Amino acid sequence: MADYKAPLRDMQFVLNEVFEVAKLWAELPALAETVDADTAAAILEEAGKVTAGSIAPLNRSGDEEGCQWTDGAVSTPAGFPEAYRTYAEGGWVGVGGDPEFGGMGMPKAISAQVEEMVHSANMSFGLYPMLTAGACLSLNAHASEELKQKYLPNMYAGVWAGSMCLTEPHAGTDLGIIRTKAEPQADGSYRISGTKIFITGGEHDLTENIIHLVLAKLPDAPAGPKGISLFVVPKVLVNADGSLGERNAVSCGSIEHKMGIKGSATCVMNFDGATGWIVDAPNKGLAAMFTMMNYERLGVGIQGLAAGERSYQSAVEYARERIQSRAPTGPVAKDKAADPIIVHPDVRRMLLTMKALNEGGRAFSSYVAMQLDTAKFSEDATTRKRAEELVALLTPVAKAFLTDVGLEACVHGQQIFGGHGYIREWGQEQLVRDVRIAQIYEGTNGIQALDLAGRKIVASGGAFYKHFADEVKAFANGAGAELAEFVEPLKAAIANLDELTAWLLEQGKANPNEIGAASVEYLHVFGYTAYAYMWALMARAAQGKEGQDEFYASKLGIARFFFARLLPRIHSLTASVKAGSESLYLLDAAQF
Ligand SMILES: Cc1cc2nc3c(=O)[nH]c(=O)nc-3n(C[C@H](O)[C@H](O)[C@H](O)COP(=O)(O)OP(=O)(O)OC[C@H]3O[C@@H](n4cnc5c(N)ncnc54)[C@H](O)[C@@H]3O)c2cc1C
Repeated sequence: MADYKAPLRDMQFVLNEVFEVAKLWAELPALAETVDADTAAAILEEAGKVTAGSIAPLNRSGDEEGCQWTDGAVSTPAGFPEAYRTYAEGGWVGVGGDPEFGGMGMPKAISAQVEEMVHSANMSFGLYPMLTAGACLSLNAHASEELKQKYLPNMYAGVWAGSMCLTEPHAGTDLGIIRTKAEPQADGSYRISGTKIFITGGEHDLTENIIHLVLAKLPDAPAGPKGISLFVVPKVLVNADGSLGERNAVSCGSIEHKMGIKGSATCVMNFDGATGWIVDAPNKGLAAMFTMMNYERLGVGIQGLAAGERSYQSAVEYARERIQSRAPTGPVAKDKAADPIIVHPDVRRMLLTMKALNEGGRAFSSYVAMQLDTAKFSEDATTRKRAEELVALLTPVAKAFLTDVGLEACVHGQQIFGGHGYIREWGQEQLVRDVRIAQIYEGTNGIQALDLAGRKIVASGGAFYKHFADEVKAFANGAGAELAEFVEPLKAAIANLDELTAWLLEQGKANPNEIGAASVEYLHVFGYTAYAYMWALMARAAQGKEGQDEFYASKLGIARFFFARLLPRIHSLTASVKAGSESLYLLDAAQF
């Protein structure tokens, strides 16, 4: 596998030339003093060095070795603890964390790029800081001042890690039916009892303590999602002076043996009357979790992009070197026995599909990250509300679409290697195995699609959608004639999405099955249309500069490929949406 190189030029292009992100930072008082384009460039360059230098080299060995469980203790693959220490000491765990508790305070537009780098380098490794950052977000937004003071500084510093304990053997998507109990104690703490499964980083040897955020039910809780509370449950209890005390009654019963991300410990966690403290008010646990979810779901989407990027870097190098057959139009490498496979139309199709999906995904995830920053830091209530609604709308698209096309990109990368793509030594098969989970956890992609179609489109009466559609139309209508080749198909795509959204709103009223029947394909139409907007913005930023630098010429070439070959996918997807739910209900359960 080719050595990983952080795509810094492309990240800079997206942040500075496509979105001019420094202008946004200057307008947001909380960020104006903290970050500018130069700071961002220095941070990204350093992150590129750490991820490529210390973390990427452990990707294959981590996959080969996996995690080991012995008597409740979990060891991560060789090199992980040292690399984690390096990563933590560089401040990377707390890169987006609140400076009041020792975080670096960087906007999501920057931490999203750091996440891409760490996941490209080694997705199993990247999950440990990702879960910690997610737990910190929930604590920071919802915990008492005392809990924040007690846990956040060590978590941002990477001395302690975090985990998110939601899933139980009988309750994954439907968290309303969890059974883990929390009994109030006289001293204000709670006794937590129950079993959680599939807990990423539930136990490991990277840090001296692990702070679990656990969903549980109080004795008098109402049934369903409205009766869930959130608790902080440390692996090792923390004394009043901040030192580590006794071991809490929480233990790891086993770890899962799985298809990919083998260096990430996926744990069964037993809470046997463990001591915990409530975060936020009783029965407000799901809402507290949702604060973190918009960030985390974007982060999972970025895992799809990250794997696709890593796969592309290897595939393009291989396609330039591997020689097989002659180009259809006659020999190109006349001094060789055959031509490099990059001459073949089908290999070019796969490489360009990967590149168009990766770079479209990088622009889109950065765009969503900027909305998250606006929602968090803007001092203007109207601007904040619009950004919050855009985040709500676009988060399920970012999570599901980036991971669906991330898998597609990795499968193309594997295919470009032919039989060698199926063999372990080249690394392409690991990427396919690793990225697959991103479509499943943090809410399956089917559930993301339901969230988009049901909650974000139908329940808002199309209001959230209008923010996005109006922005795209304003851009398209204001673009100059020189951008017509990109803007005309973009206009047609947004008109198609408008019509499909109106169809969904109408159908959803008549028959609730129509929403679920349409949702996955609707989300994909949305994803391609959003990428069309991104590619039109990138084309605008590149146009006129193509003579100076092949980077811009390449950008315009990929934009043309996207509009010619990938955007037309919306037509068949649109037809599937409009086919409705009827054909899904022709068989009864016994007839399957
Ligand atoms: C490697 C790994 C790491 C994980 N890490 C964590 C973690 O750190 N913390 C944590 O709490 N959990 C974690 N999970 C759990 C993960 O989030 C769940 O597996 C996931 O949310 C799906 O739940 P489930 O497996 O119970 O599937 P189910 O909920 O049983 O779903 C089965 C299928 O039915 C579909 N389905 C369910 N309900 C509906 C519906 N209403 N409409 C349409 N389709 C529906 C689903 O989309 C899916 O295709 C992890 C899982 C794995 C495998």
